[in-house]
Amino acid sequence: MPRLTVLPGDGIGPEIMEQTLRLLEKVVPLGSWQVDMALIGGCAIDACGNPLPQETVDACLASDAVLLGAVGGPKWDAVPASLRPEAGLLGIRSAMGLYANLRPATLMAPLAEASPLKAEVLGDGFDLLIVRELTGGIYFGEHGSGNDSAGRYTAYDVERYSVYEIERIARTAFEAAMRRKKQLVSVDKANVLESSRLWRATVNVLAAQYPQVELSHMYVDNAAMQLVRDPGQFDVIVTSNMFGDILSDEASMLTGSIGLLPSASLGEGTRGLYEPIHGSAPDIAGSGRANPLAAILSAAMMLRYSLEMEDEARRIENAVRDALVDGARTADLAGGAAALSCREMADAVIAHL
Ligand code: NAD
Repeated sequence: MPRLTVLPGDGIGPEIMEQTLRLLEKVVPLGSWQVDMALIGGCAIDACGNPLPQETVDACLASDAVLLGAVGGPKWDAVPASLRPEAGLLGIRSAMGLYANLRPATLMAPLAEASPLKAEVLGDGFDLLIVRELTGGIYFGEHGSGNDSAGRYTAYDVERYSVYEIERIARTAFEAAMRRKKQLVSVDKANVLESSRLWRATVNVLAAQYPQVELSHMYVDNAAMQLVRDPGQFDVIVTSNMFGDILSDEASMLTGSIGLLPSASLGEGTRGLYEPIHGSAPDIAGSGRANPLAAILSAAMMLRYSLEMEDEARRIENAVRDALVDGARTADLAGGAAALSCREMADAVIAHL
């Protein structure tokens, strides 16, 4: 019996999670799963003074998968950094040992006009997946500041990767590529950085275990250009923490809508945390205008990566696409035209299952 922990969080989090669970129920026998609700973020601060209560950690660690809405909001902006809602998010990622962040960026044909790219660049659209290393590299390397030998005030951040860290993220990427078009681009800066040369060499060694995957390498500056020049050329991209941070935001802008983008964070084994990339949207919380599709597509990723339910995942993704083809739009996508509510959008997807 699969065990799922749901963390609705703050702002629009509870609204989009309610619709996601309603839809999931139509696709999998949720009634026979163990589904626990738990607190994270601002609502947890309000309930028990801690953005990540121990019961939440325990529930997540005992689960096969965790579905998260979003955390944060102006109400908690003034609390100390270690007690802010975002600390709950970082805390649960670390407690679950999540080192791989999977961010798909898909341009669904009916939404081509939302992309900042021209139609001739978009062609038939794109469907790419960025696999970003999440717990190493420059964000977690040695940081410091002080006077250098010439007495000039200086600051530094160290980019450091071990073979172990590179190998495990590359493995996640090769496995993801095996489920898709079997094309992997490893992005680095091996013409300049020693850590990138180790990255490239390690990915090359692992490639021998995945002969069906077509591997190529690209410098990060070129990858940033290629994403806007011809995003359709990519299937899976694997890269370091900082490069992935930048490229995944660039790729998400190409789709033109933040309300549509899911993500997965994975560690050892199949357990994962699934969440939309958007925040808690406090400006529209409670108004029924939130777009539930990023959360719904996050649930599809959960079925694929944690629960080996590829067919069910595709059913959801196809239903989302078909609802959009049919003209279903929440306010963020409608551009002034009549818009569906959060619940009505979920209904539109359910109708296409
Ligand atoms: P945001 O993503 O919440 O909102 C940015 C804009 O996009 C807003 O206008 C919002 O209304 C809109 N938007 C976002 N998601 C939407 C959806 N599903 N449907 C329709 N419109 C949507 O980013 P922000 O305003 O910078 O941050 C708000 C709060 O969320 C802050 O407290 C921030 O710290 C937090 N945040 C949380 C996460 C997370 O939980 N993973 C991520 C980013 C920001």
